[in-house]
Amino acid sequence: MAKQGNNDKMGKIVSLCKRRGYVFPSSEIYGGIASCWDYGPLGVELKRNIKERWWKAMTLSRDDIEGLDCSIIMHPRVWEASGHVEGFTDPLVDCKKCKQRFREDEVKDKCPDCGGELTEVRRFNLMFKTHMGPVVEEANLVYLRPETAQGIYVNFSNVQATSRQKIPFGIAQIGKSFRNEITPGNFIFRTREFEQMEMQYFVRPEEAPEWLEKWKEERMKWYKELGIKEDNLRFHQHTEEELPHYAAKAYDVQYKFPFGWQELEGIHNRTDYDLKRHIQHSGKDLSYFETGSEERFVPYIIETSAGVDRTLLMCLVDAYDEEENRVVLRLSPRLAPYKAGIFPLVKRDGMPEVAREIAKELRSHFRVFYDDETGSVGRRYRRQDEAGTPYGITVDSQTLKDDTVTLRDRDDMSQIRVKIDDLVGKIGELIG
Ligand code: ATP
Repeated sequence: MAKQGNNDKMGKIVSLCKRRGYVFPSSEIYGGIASCWDYGPLGVELKRNIKERWWKAMTLSRDDIEGLDCSIIMHPRVWEASGHVEGFTDPLVDCKKCKQRFREDEVKDKCPDCGGELTEVRRFNLMFKTHMGPVVEEANLVYLRPETAQGIYVNFSNVQATSRQKIPFGIAQIGKSFRNEITPGNFIFRTREFEQMEMQYFVRPEEAPEWLEKWKEERMKWYKELGIKEDNLRFHQHTEEELPHYAAKAYDVQYKFPFGWQELEGIHNRTDYDLKRHIQHSGKDLSYFETGSEERFVPYIIETSAGVDRTLLMCLVDAYDEEENRVVLRLSPRLAPYKAGIFPLVKRDGMPEVAREIAKELRSHFRVFYDDETGSVGRRYRRQDEAGTPYGITVDSQTLKDDTVTLRDRDDMSQIRVKIDDLVGKIGELIG
């Protein structure tokens, strides 16, 4: 199989996702719905593995970060205070001829599709609106959150008081966010409903620059530990024009997608902007009293804000590989949905029974896949290569004599013989 161009690569990944059960078009039997996607059996496992690794790195393995899970619908005044009602807008233009809609910053003077004339710029608020309760009226207008961060800010004092954390400390949250994007696209890269993994770290104002640098390093380390190729990762520092109004300094972690270098995560010094705005709008005191220095101050916030779906897409893109006779998804074994496929060489002579027994034993340690479909074991290997399963275990006639199986490595297809009793230890060691 020849290596293909970049657009082709995205097309191939989309079709692999469908074929192997990673991602399906949403509501497909009704013709699908624009830029909405459903995670299938393998997709949901990969997504969970990504979120679990993030949660572990950001909360479980640290004593300075607490978790939180806020409601998606919040008091509408939250979004006034945050600036979203007024300022969370994109500049929208329409083509007068073909009616296609664009973000103004993505086009020049003419419609890129048909060369038609464009309308004047209109500001379009990206927040999804709905109404709370049975009557549709202005008074019960609410929004679906466009970011998880605000839930953290408004709970700053609750979390600090109950956890008894002292500054510096952080609050982490994983959850769905919604943005009525004008130009969603590139598969799951930009959608209107997506999941974020956000952590807000509260610090003394003068320590904010130092913590920004620390979090920058921590977060890059996390991506590398997912097994992502270093050459495909970089930082981009926001220029003056790019800098959000609330931030003093900001970086993006970017990945080299087939459609160019794109943001995976924002790491921002948000100053005391958010807490001060909520103090003003709610009238509640969200300042912090530091024992020792006996000082009261409004903390600065260093934010790390990543997208689950984008991270997942990055993992798939980075792992996708084509060889002469196979497509292989070289996912890090730690992330792979199934850790091993288990195959009886033939469907007789007691091999399926032994293989099933192995699958049962392994299942209490790892997620595994049992496959006794008739047909060559080679075909069954290929299917798991494409699904990203790092190890293959085959029960053959020798197994019946000496209780060993072949353990095949997805990446180099090498095979070793391992005692059945040693499988759990060996696979555990290989996964690391
Ligand atoms: P972009 O410039 O790509 O629209 P942003 O700068 O608006 O992103 P942030 O507000 O910083 O994004 O959101 C933090 C993270 O949330 C992003 O880095 C991304 O991973 C994720 N994210 C934001 N919008 C979307 C979306 N529409 N679809 C999928 N993920 C998203």
